[in-house]
Amino acid sequence: MISDNLQRIRAELPSGVKLVAVSKFHPIPALIEAYLEGQRVFGENRPQEFASKAVQLSQDIEWHFIGHLQTNKLKLVLPYAYMVESVDSVHLLEAIDTWGALHSKVIRVLLELHLGAEETKHGLSEDEIREILGSAGKYGNVRFCGLMGMATNTDDESVIRADFQRISSLKASLSAEFGVESSPVLSDFRELSIGMSHDWKIAVEYGATIVRIGTGIFGSRQY
Ligand SMILES: *Cc1c(COP(=O)(O)O)cnc(C)c1O
Repeated sequence: MISDNLQRIRAELPSGVKLVAVSKFHPIPALIEAYLEGQRVFGENRPQEFASKAVQLSQDIEWHFIGHLQTNKLKLVLPYAYMVESVDSVHLLEAIDTWGALHSKVIRVLLELHLGAEETKHGLSEDEIREILGSAGKYGNVRFCGLMGMATNTDDESVIRADFQRISSLKASLSAEFGVESSPVLSDFRELSIGMSHDWKIAVEYGATIVRIGTGIFGSRQY
């Protein structure tokens, strides 16, 4: 079942788009099934669960943290994180940088744009993202790898498209504004993490380089 789902998604996903298997709330055997099917990139959104799964599973997994992260939980997440996709405040960014300096580690991050409706409370405004990137050089232990966003949770495809269009255009204008190709501190700013189980095919049309799929792989979650 999990392996069928993975095969089906991979068959449709363009090459070059990274699939993050969002395994939150699913037990270890489910992750192992995906692992045996070749999946090596997993996403979790709760620090304790993230840390617990990371220590139980194989070292060659790339763990993405995708949830709201409080600074007092960094020690659970940063030792294992390949990337923190959900940086939603300057305060968090500064804390990640400080942790990185203390532990001689550079942490890959995506800046989360606040997209869509009120149900998503977290995320940065376009102006905040611009300001952060303008002073990217002061975060010596952070690597800025791109943007993340969650479209409005709706069946109205035109709303989803408008959200994806906005984040996609923002990424393009930031890349031009900051000359990321030749920038010493922003040369990795290329990822666009958009798209979940119900909207990932649309996200791909808008230039997603990372999609985060949970239900579509593991089935529904038991909260
Ligand atoms: C849970 C979650 C997903 C996956 O959602 P599905 O609808 O199950 O695919 C993707 N991104 C984030 C940030 C999430 O919290």
